[in-house]
Amino acid sequence: MRFLPVFLDLKTGPLILIGNGELANAKLRLLSAAGARVRWYLTANDNGEQAAAALPPGVEIATGDPLADSFEHSIAVLCAGAGETGIAVAQRARALGIPVNVMDDLAHSTFIFPAIVDRGDVVVAVGTGGASPVVARRVREKIEALLPARIGDLAALIGRWRKPTHDKIADMPLRRRFWERVVDGPIGQLALNGQIEQAEAALGAIADPAIYAGRGDAGSVTLVGAGPGDPDLLTIKALRALQDADIVFYDELVSPEILDRIRRDTPRIAVGRRVGKPGIGQDAINKHLIEAAQSGQRAVRLKGGDSFVFGRGGEEVEALRAAGVAYSIIPGITAAVGAAAQFEVPLTFRQEALRITFLTAHKARDAEVVDWSALTDDKMTVAVYMGMTAGASIRSGLLAAGRSPQTPVGVFARATRADAKAVVGVLDDLPALAAALDGGPAILIIGDVIAHSAPWQRRELDNLALQLTMAAE
Ligand code: SAH
Repeated sequence: MRFLPVFLDLKTGPLILIGNGELANAKLRLLSAAGARVRWYLTANDNGEQAAAALPPGVEIATGDPLADSFEHSIAVLCAGAGETGIAVAQRARALGIPVNVMDDLAHSTFIFPAIVDRGDVVVAVGTGGASPVVARRVREKIEALLPARIGDLAALIGRWRKPTHDKIADMPLRRRFWERVVDGPIGQLALNGQIEQAEAALGAIADPAIYAGRGDAGSVTLVGAGPGDPDLLTIKALRALQDADIVFYDELVSPEILDRIRRDTPRIAVGRRVGKPGIGQDAINKHLIEAAQSGQRAVRLKGGDSFVFGRGGEEVEALRAAGVAYSIIPGITAAVGAAAQFEVPLTFRQEALRITFLTAHKARDAEVVDWSALTDDKMTVAVYMGMTAGASIRSGLLAAGRSPQTPVGVFARATRADAKAVVGVLDDLPALAAALDGGPAILIIGDVIAHSAPWQRRELDNLALQLTMAAE
């Protein structure tokens, strides 16, 4: 991010606008509508009188050389038209430490204008760092469609009640919960329906805001499946849980983009283990979860994929039950399913793959205890979690179970993330395939269905092309 969105207080001084033409007029309309005071220097005199005649409120015409203006007390300088004047104005404004925007000249601007969604007190600024106003506009259109028309009225209502309410609730998390209940509950609904007076009356009728906010309510734990990495694969429920959480305990496998979806001021605690590093241990995790809930917090336990697929969610639920803590479970997309979608592996296929098995082979030792004889069925797809370094044992296990060395296999690393990678081949080559990926996490999928996958189909085409080339030579 190069440009940080901030909001200028238009009550603190005038803006200076230099120049005329369409760009200047557009800015003038924006500023005047926002309630700004503007000192406007017209650089060409031909339409000065005309402009002065139709001057929008808050705008005064200034005469003389804008560069001779002291810019005193002004909050920003805007210059229409790049070129000599723009550069000179920018230099002066920067020397005085005043933000300056030279339209169509990023290099000489210290700030730029975002696309704006305006709902009164609720304002959304959309920027692309000056790269593409069209993209910014499209984003704005999407947000326009998303925001209730009266969201600004709701914000204004809350603004009026903020101080008297906070005088009655000292505790910050409880304050937040109070406003969440107002915004998400019937009072918020009234305001969004335009029934502001009723909403106001309902707020006024709350005798004890701390109790309305749920002081003394029991806490809870929500096990949330974060999916394989792409934040867009979070469920809507998961997103809501992340936004509402008072504290989040997360695994190493959870991607930074997903952690970004947690409210910024929420404490987040890494409890996962990494390959080779132990982490804090399951008992300690259980203890943290229970203590957080017992202190009244809404704790989220955030895990990669799904909590109940090699995620130790079962153990956590047992501990929570034993402690009498309220809990709920939000499923996530497990790695095998994420990888299958990305690389077009139909995990089942009519007649070819009638069953699917998820197994783990964390270390060669795990692979030795797997009952491979249960996996003899050729019509079974096998997905192996944590199997990156156990390729050789998996191969010997499956071969001993009678699977063909020519069975197609795929190894999918960092599925659904920006740096996802796939390699496909046959069972005989499994150890080499796993080694060909630079780093995990990776999931192994074994079975005829791999032949339907996108990387396999590409490989076939490449082979064909190679054969044709050789034939031609
Ligand atoms: N609960 C998780 C699995 C945890 S075990 C789930 O449901 O997905 C950790 C293993 O999951 C890793 O060793 C790897 O095999 C697999 N895995 C997790 N995320 C992955 C990803 N983005 N791509 C490929 N494999 C992944």
